[in-house]
Amino acid sequence: MRVVDLRSDTLTRPTASMSRAMAEADVGDDVFGEDPTVNRLEEMAADRMGKAAALFVTSGTMGNLVSLLVHCARGEEIILGGSAHTYFFEQGGSAAVGGIHPRTLTNQTDGKLALADIEAAIRPDNVHFPRTRLIVLENTHNLCNGHPLDTDYMKAVGALARRHGLKIHVDGARIFNAAAALDVPVATLASEADSVSFCLSKGLGAPVGSVLCGSQDFISEARRARKILGGGMRQAGVLAAAGIVALEEMVERLADDHANARRLAEGLAEMPGVSLDPDQIRTNIVYFEVNRPDMTTPELVQRLDDKGARMLPVGTGRIRAVTHYHISSEDIEYVLGIAANILK
Ligand SMILES: *Cc1c(COP(=O)(O)O)cnc(C)c1O
Repeated sequence: MRVVDLRSDTLTRPTASMSRAMAEADVGDDVFGEDPTVNRLEEMAADRMGKAAALFVTSGTMGNLVSLLVHCARGEEIILGGSAHTYFFEQGGSAAVGGIHPRTLTNQTDGKLALADIEAAIRPDNVHFPRTRLIVLENTHNLCNGHPLDTDYMKAVGALARRHGLKIHVDGARIFNAAAALDVPVATLASEADSVSFCLSKGLGAPVGSVLCGSQDFISEARRARKILGGGMRQAGVLAAAGIVALEEMVERLADDHANARRLAEGLAEMPGVSLDPDQIRTNIVYFEVNRPDMTTPELVQRLDDKGARMLPVGTGRIRAVTHYHISSEDIEYVLGIAANILK
């Protein structure tokens, strides 16, 4: 049976040129700083992101945790969205490993934190309070419809952070999607960030890995933090080689994923019982809810799955569909056909 798997963009398998690059990668011991392919990926990533240096890490989760460990000492506080991946889906690692205290704000529907809310959350110097150290933003925002944070917003948060002596970390797991959706260079979106992490293993299609970017000093400290977390890898050039191909060959095509997501959203929105505003879909993530007397959300997901349209139930009542490299516009029509049949 033909299966169109929309559960996540992490399901992508390496392209032929990635497999070739991995097989032929020139490698060395990266803990000694001697893997030429890792070094090249780190230079490329830093350059794209407009930062001085970069560090190849195993995952987005590790990139975020390493960054928080470098920015914050034990007992210090970060300000982040209650829907942030770092808060919601990373096992509370900053608290568990770093003793870092999270102060959560309600995300706006477009993934932003309201400037007034950030301002109000910053702690005054008082013996009762932890010290506020860092603002964490997410671009695109996974749980908020994959919404991109634009340059104006980033500049406003940057100004606020500087006024209060705070740093900014951007969880940019899908920041290349944001750049594509907003049609701006990714370095422009990252310019206010003291650190930014992005995933090679999502829409960019590499099998493993993320990159954390920042200043030379920041990355030197990040290298130490990565090591204590067990993230010092040896001949990691085998993996970095795919990451280089991801940056060279997979960024330009992200707009196709966005067009496919939009088409999926428009089609689903017309079906009876579906709540979804296609105008909210700016990148590759589509969330929708279904209110029907004849089936529950888990039943709908199962029936879609039975026919070959695989999606992800998230929380209570939401369904997520994510477009990626292996999803064609024809796949979208196929999925809409299946959904229309079930929801007619
Ligand atoms: C996927 C994701 C991460 C974590 O990446 P992993 O490689 O799965 O650890 C972090 N932040 C966001 C917004 C994500 O979508």
